[in-house]
Amino acid sequence: MKKFYRAFGLLLACLLLGGTLQAGDVKNVIWIIGDGMGPDAMGFFMQGVRYGGLKDYPDKVSHLEQFLQNAQWGLFFNNTYDTVVTDSAAAGTQMATGRLSRPESVGVDYNGQPAENLLELARKQGKAVGVISDAYVTDATPAAFLAHVPNRSEKMEIARQIVAFEPDVLLGGGLKYFTTGENKKLLSEAKKKGYRVVKNKKELAAVKSGRVLGLFSDTSMPMAVEMHRYPKLPTLTEQTQKAVELLIQNEDGFVLVVEAGKIDWAAHAHDAGAWFYEMKELDNLLQYVQAFADKNGETLVYLNADHDTGLGAFAYRHVGKQKAMQKTAQGEVLYGGDVDYASFNTFAQLEKQQSSLYYLEEELKQLPAEKLTPAYLQKRFDEALGMKVDISKFDNLTDVSGLFEQLNESRGLVWATPNHSSLAILSAAYGPQADEFAGVYHNTDILPRFKQALGWSDK
Ligand SMILES: [Zn+2]
Repeated sequence: MKKFYRAFGLLLACLLLGGTLQAGDVKNVIWIIGDGMGPDAMGFFMQGVRYGGLKDYPDKVSHLEQFLQNAQWGLFFNNTYDTVVTDSAAAGTQMATGRLSRPESVGVDYNGQPAENLLELARKQGKAVGVISDAYVTDATPAAFLAHVPNRSEKMEIARQIVAFEPDVLLGGGLKYFTTGENKKLLSEAKKKGYRVVKNKKELAAVKSGRVLGLFSDTSMPMAVEMHRYPKLPTLTEQTQKAVELLIQNEDGFVLVVEAGKIDWAAHAHDAGAWFYEMKELDNLLQYVQAFADKNGETLVYLNADHDTGLGAFAYRHVGKQKAMQKTAQGEVLYGGDVDYASFNTFAQLEKQQSSLYYLEEELKQLPAEKLTPAYLQKRFDEALGMKVDISKFDNLTDVSGLFEQLNESRGLVWATPNHSSLAILSAAYGPQADEFAGVYHNTDILPRFKQALGWSDK
């Protein structure tokens, strides 16, 4: 009987402890921001995993889908002080500081006044702080958590303010802003402040404690679809693993902001394959972060985006009866005549893409005109897209973005804009105090919600 009571007590303790996962104290925060990741990007990726053919997902469920299934959802707006649509600078600033701002402003409110951000507050509470971006660290989103400047274009000043702020961990691209011109000595200054400066995956792996400044490329890190060409660079997930390993050594916990920065870029370019692979990198990251949070029990994970880019999705289109007949795999018209409702095959095709539109464009620009023969371009496009491309339909073979637009059209993939949209953004919070982030809100409400979740509100 004694045994029974002991087992019962243990079970009760487990249940109570289990209950505290939602209600307990938050010691650490990992905030993942998908730049440009509207609900359109999330849905497109999750559906791609369900209906595509990637071997990494034998059960056809993405980590994003699993994460969302267990998270508290919110929907929020991101308008600035005086505009409906935002850029990353204003969005980042409003999220980081809880203050209304204006487009292109970094860390300053709509009056141009520096506003205290989440990381500055966290440091006052004794927490270690880190920022990661797979774009570059002086770009608008990371800068909003690290600097205060009137305009996002002041990248050199942002770099100086970053070193002055001394985040415990800073990883990403953007080396040139720390090594050239007026900032030539910035890295030696950082070293004097106790930073380890690392420039590749191996050097990063060797860091076991202390502060680290990892700058892995001159400007942005490569697009995820191209990372296979750069085995010496750490992925966003690898950077995050290292950051967590270092930050958790601080006994009062940490706040880490991770930007998946190029979902936005792929969407600006209407490059659906690159878009998918940027989301896949975010998905790998979520797998790691969720497992870490489960094991740790005191980590609040918050996933959101700064804004939507592109408004991309499949749409049906009227193609004429003959074409619709050719389109259906069954060889017959199923949907009343002339409509192509888009094929699941497109997901499997996009997974085969090997290069981004950006990379292809750059590559072709650098080749002499005589090299750009139809035969060469055919070979290159086939390689880049991982499939046989029918170039006979394309008018100007060196116009890569035109080629992608035509491919999109033939697949029923539409984008409403090459820019940002005002689409409401989905947020998902996981772990202790996750319910603070449920409901409908504005991005200036995020910081107050963090303060509440972290118990800083009445201090
Ligand atoms: Zn953008």
